[in-house]
Amino acid sequence: MKETCSSCYSCGMPLEKATDYALGDMSQKYCIYCTDTQGNLKSFEEILNGLTHHLVHSQGLASKAATEMAQKLLAEQPAWKNHPKKGGTNVQG
Ligand SMILES: [Zn+2]
Repeated sequence: MKETCSSCYSCGMPLEKATDYALGDMSQKYCIYCTDTQGNLKSFEEILNGLTHHLVHSQGLASKAATEMAQKLLAEQPAWKNHPKKGGTNVQG
């Protein structure tokens, strides 16, 4: 198992520099993209949309495929593991 302390708890982006972290604060769990200007975690929908956009542009995916991939990626992150909006799956243990 890999430590998760150096990646965003919401989107899994690697957090390497202070500028990658929310508020530029390296004690934060989330990246700058997953938080608003106050350092609060954005809504699942907002983050999903942002990640979908990113996948469309960086991977050249169709928006439907990108949305599905983004949902899968987010569902694996600590911030959303138990989030009711991530989908219908309810995996135990
Ligand atoms: Zn993030």
